[in-house]
Amino acid sequence: MGVDAQYGYVVMLDVVRVPVLSDNYAWLVHDADSGETIVVDPGEAAPVQAAAAERGWRIDAVWTTHWHPDHTGGNQALKAAGAEIVAPAAEAAKIPTLDRGVAEGDTLMLGRHAATVMEVPGHTQGHVAFHFAEDGIVFTGDTLFAMGCGRLFEGTPGDMFANMARYAAIPDATRVYCGHEYTLSNARYAAVAEPDNAAVAERLAQVAAQRARGEATVPTTIGAERATNPFLRAASVEDFARLRAGKDAFKG
Ligand code: ZN
Ligand code: FE
Repeated sequence: MGVDAQYGYVVMLDVVRVPVLSDNYAWLVHDADSGETIVVDPGEAAPVQAAAAERGWRIDAVWTTHWHPDHTGGNQALKAAGAEIVAPAAEAAKIPTLDRGVAEGDTLMLGRHAATVMEVPGHTQGHVAFHFAEDGIVFTGDTLFAMGCGRLFEGTPGDMFANMARYAAIPDATRVYCGHEYTLSNARYAAVAEPDNAAVAERLAQVAAQRARGEATVPTTIGAERATNPFLRAASVEDFARLRAGKDAFKG
């Protein structure tokens, strides 16, 4: 959203949550001005195609945050249906459907809306996020979650700590669209990690109620994460590493 000097008012992007697999979210993003539609991380194709068809949208491109099958499982079918597969260049060998590789600082366009590619390694080595700065939207895949962060499969605590610092520097109002509905487990851990944080306790209660009603808890915002996400709030890489190890062992 915003005012474009040449064209005037720019219509807000439509973002549609599509639950796929057991707890993944794929995100359909549609620009009404241009009629273009992309999907971020389609773990499977059919539910995404159904959600697009219902709205009369044609999927022009797939934007992939990382190679894990729960984020790329739908790529082949969507590519066969005509979508261009955009994915981290660094993971090209693990993403055979890739048409266009992207890296840090690249700009992707959806109509007149620009997204910047952020390299955010740690969960996987080549993991990227897509940041529509003007629109106040970021797609974080399996790096920043609501009240949590991704596991370190291919990187170090230092990698992910650096990612958290980058996210924390984005404006508070930015909406965060992540790859999984992990919020309740994350909230329970956050309450153990920060027992004196009233905002965490309050959000845990809210998230528990939402989940009991079968509601999604994503998107979140950078501001909410700055208040309640222990990983984003970690003061040092040591602090972060301790929190991550604690979550890996947490049975919540
Ligand atoms: Zn993953
Ligand atoms: Fe995942």
